[in-house]
Amino acid sequence: MFQKVLIANRGEIALRILRACKELGIATVAVHSTADSNAMHVRLADESVCIGPPPAKDSYLNIPSILAACEITGADAVHPGYGFLSENARFARILTEHKITFIGPSSHHIEIMGDKITAKKTAVELGIPVVPGSDGEMKTPEEAIKLANAIGYPVIVKATAGGGGRGMKVARNDEEMAIAISTARTEAKAAFGNDSVYIEKYLQRPRHIEIQVMGDGKGNAVHLGTRDCSLQRRHQKVWEEASAPTVSPDQRSEIGEICAAAMRKLQYSGAGTIEFLYEDGEFYFIEMNTRLQVEHPVTERITGVDLVYEQIRVASGETLSLAQKDVTFTGHAIEVRINAEDPQTFTPSPGKISFYHPAGGVGVRVDSAVYGGYTIPPYYDSLIGKLIVYGRTREECLQRLRRAVDEFVVDGIKTTLPLFQRLIKEPDIIAGNYDIHWLEKYLGTKKG
Ligand code: ADP
Repeated sequence: MFQKVLIANRGEIALRILRACKELGIATVAVHSTADSNAMHVRLADESVCIGPPPAKDSYLNIPSILAACEITGADAVHPGYGFLSENARFARILTEHKITFIGPSSHHIEIMGDKITAKKTAVELGIPVVPGSDGEMKTPEEAIKLANAIGYPVIVKATAGGGGRGMKVARNDEEMAIAISTARTEAKAAFGNDSVYIEKYLQRPRHIEIQVMGDGKGNAVHLGTRDCSLQRRHQKVWEEASAPTVSPDQRSEIGEICAAAMRKLQYSGAGTIEFLYEDGEFYFIEMNTRLQVEHPVTERITGVDLVYEQIRVASGETLSLAQKDVTFTGHAIEVRINAEDPQTFTPSPGKISFYHPAGGVGVRVDSAVYGGYTIPPYYDSLIGKLIVYGRTREECLQRLRRAVDEFVVDGIKTTLPLFQRLIKEPDIIAGNYDIHWLEKYLGTKKG
């Protein structure tokens, strides 16, 4: 087991990792920018190192600084959390070259899944169902139009190097396709420095359902069930549930086993999430995230598995502590993301939290790194906390969520809490009747 883990992240996820390390008796090193000197992860870690000025590219994404912090403190492993360097194959490779363990999959697996065309090809080879579309890059509008007619409109143009919902364009006919291909290429070039795009069938009203997997790099792997993350705004998840309300236990076992078998074949190590669109009872692979997800606590709640603990264990060379038969699913969990944003316009609302009172009581978990008197810096993403609620049934979970959202107080800044107060009263949400477009339609038509 590791002696000392450096946490290359900030905010609630840095704290989440720190807590797992403490429970495992591992010393912790926090890294931080000058904007985060007073942050909770810095206060709670055993040691901390300032790695640069506020912009992430100069601090949390600054590989030489993080490497230097490892050298200075003698950390023998790095946990990257999510975002920042978590899916950076080069970072994983450099750490390995310096004999520091990257707590995550091999750089090879990060690379395969980071390129969407390679990821899709790999999925097909592994027997994972995918969205019908192009086998590779689409270079000209002519070839894209030809294929789109074969698949049937509407289709979606996606950037091979895409992420965070950027670089996607929907086309409903030949004229739109000609424009979509060229604008998507220009946008992809600007956003990712890579203008390669591909096309796939655009599903009209799917749900976003994902499978959590965990492997030990020795050919053992399990799935930990489903999450439904269909409630999204601008392709950003807002509300997540486990288990996915529309997937039966039999379907869960079937798709879950396909994913676990694929991970065994790959000899995948660490936590991963295989994301699907789900329509009319069919799953269609869209991508795999080779890291811990923001929404991992809902899975932890219904399975009782500490995913960060498992990540650390397998990275240190131990075999997976559970077999598939040990994974059970109990009750229902929902996570809502509390962002420092205006609940109507979603413009960021950084600033000082004058008063903070998180919800508590039976079935409530709050993962957050803020406190009363803390000033949210304007440089990073706006997530300030995750409220995770559990119930024996989805109905009980919703009842608890309603009271927990009412109880939660964050004064001094604007947050998305009022959005959840409204959502929880919506008949479609209560019935679990929503797809990936539901929230945007709702926000477009029901402002105020
Ligand atoms: P990113 O890596 O940028 O997050 P994804 O491939 O995961 O991109 O897609 C993000 C979101 O875009 C999905 O959750 C879904 O809402 C939408 N989307 C992606 N592909 C399709 C598709 N083929 N049909 C309909 N919607 C899609």
